[in-house]
Amino acid sequence: MTEHPALSKSRYISGAQCHLRLWYDCYERDLAVAPDEALRAVFDTGHEVGELACKRIPGGHLVAHDHRHIPEALEETGRVIEAGRAPALFEAAFRHRGVLVRADIIERLPGGGWRLTEVKSTTRLKDLFVLDAGVQLWVLRGAGLDVREACVLTLDRDYVYDGRRLDPGALFRLHPVTGRAEALLAAVEAEVDGMQAMLAAPTAPDIAPGSHCFDPYPCPYHAHCTRNDAPPDHGIDELPRLAKAERSRLDAGKVREIRDIPDGFPLTPLQRIVRRAVVEGRPVLHGDISGILARRRRPVRYLDFETFSPAVPRFAGTRPYDAIPFLFSVHTERRGAPPDHADYLHEGSDDPRPALADRLIGALGRSGSICTWSGYEGRILRDLAAALPERAAALRAIGARLFDLLPPVRDSFYHPAFRGSFSIKSVLPALVPGMDYADLSIADGQTAAARYVLALAADDPEERRRTFADLRAYCARDTLALAELCKSLATVGRENTVREPVRVRPA
Ligand code: SF4
Repeated sequence: MTEHPALSKSRYISGAQCHLRLWYDCYERDLAVAPDEALRAVFDTGHEVGELACKRIPGGHLVAHDHRHIPEALEETGRVIEAGRAPALFEAAFRHRGVLVRADIIERLPGGGWRLTEVKSTTRLKDLFVLDAGVQLWVLRGAGLDVREACVLTLDRDYVYDGRRLDPGALFRLHPVTGRAEALLAAVEAEVDGMQAMLAAPTAPDIAPGSHCFDPYPCPYHAHCTRNDAPPDHGIDELPRLAKAERSRLDAGKVREIRDIPDGFPLTPLQRIVRRAVVEGRPVLHGDISGILARRRRPVRYLDFETFSPAVPRFAGTRPYDAIPFLFSVHTERRGAPPDHADYLHEGSDDPRPALADRLIGALGRSGSICTWSGYEGRILRDLAAALPERAAALRAIGARLFDLLPPVRDSFYHPAFRGSFSIKSVLPALVPGMDYADLSIADGQTAAARYVLALAADDPEERRRTFADLRAYCARDTLALAELCKSLATVGRENTVREPVRVRPA
């Protein structure tokens, strides 16, 4: 191997996480797991936000040559800068010491020099974004551009769409990071040297998987790197909220299995329950779950929402990433018969909330407990009440009847098959064998949101119909699962269960 591949900003970020990841990015890309639908939706959002960010600067010049035409992009960037007319360039290309970057935005400053702006589709500034800016600053200055300011542009959660005209000037928040990015320049240079030396070596670096594989992003090569590792029976990752310091201590002692954690090791009350369930190989009942369930009032209903969260607000009164409910499912228990089912899916591209709220108010009646899993449904109801004042009283009355099943389960019962998670997807198969999501085309909320957005944009009516049916089936499974789960929870403790006298608070 005589010439190593060029670094780019994204390759640098890969390498900053793990040199082996960078090696694979450059030489064995096929080993990566392909991005799933939810991740592809995140990429699409990034493109949408990036295009809107450019509209903040009228008259800016887009360097449109893609990654297959880098010489042309470099040439065009130099020519437009030299011409001195465009107030800004988008996707301008620069190369310095073998590192190529495409800068989201560079703007001429009134007093001379340039401002570099990195665009992000999140609403918060993160340290990682400053590193992004630092890498670009190092390349741009190294390539000879007089960059005097470095900034990160995020969406602004305070922006409220008026429903008529999107204002790109107000939608974004500019975070100046010049000083912080400059402070990274020496480290970036040293890291570039290290990465290039690593890429010039004849073999891949020898790096074992560890907690760095998920920080700051889940690594797409994890399945490959761990292909020969026998998965732990009940690994320490199953301990809820294991602190970094405790995790490091267990790693240092080569403790991979919960059952091998030494007596006296500092664990939270919930972690101790989890350890006991694993060690004894049976569930632990440490609270009065059946007593808590008996407090529910009849008729008992089960409610679940599906929502999507557009980065760029679409409906009047909403902010970036507001959760917009587009589908609900309700199952109502009846004595001696299967539960009744009602649902509503909004099939138009207009605001789903008014029609959904009306159908919801009709479906939930005026009495009885409404069971949910987590406080999410309560939050959506509060947001709906705030957005729809004429329905607020009815929606608040519904909110007052909610009965969140998650806290009593988390505070009363643990089954080793939960594997450290109290999500409905983990709890359900442990308590209701044979009931899961494996037969459904949609099996999680993020995929549901991504498919809904795609279906709304689809031209093919058959594709829309199929996706809408899949979405309803998924949401209905969620509420039927809650009903079945409650039946099972009412009987826990009757068989092969450890009774732990101390009730624990969540860790
Ligand atoms: S899975 Fe972990 S060790 Fe393997 S390449 Fe990715 S970050 Fe590196």
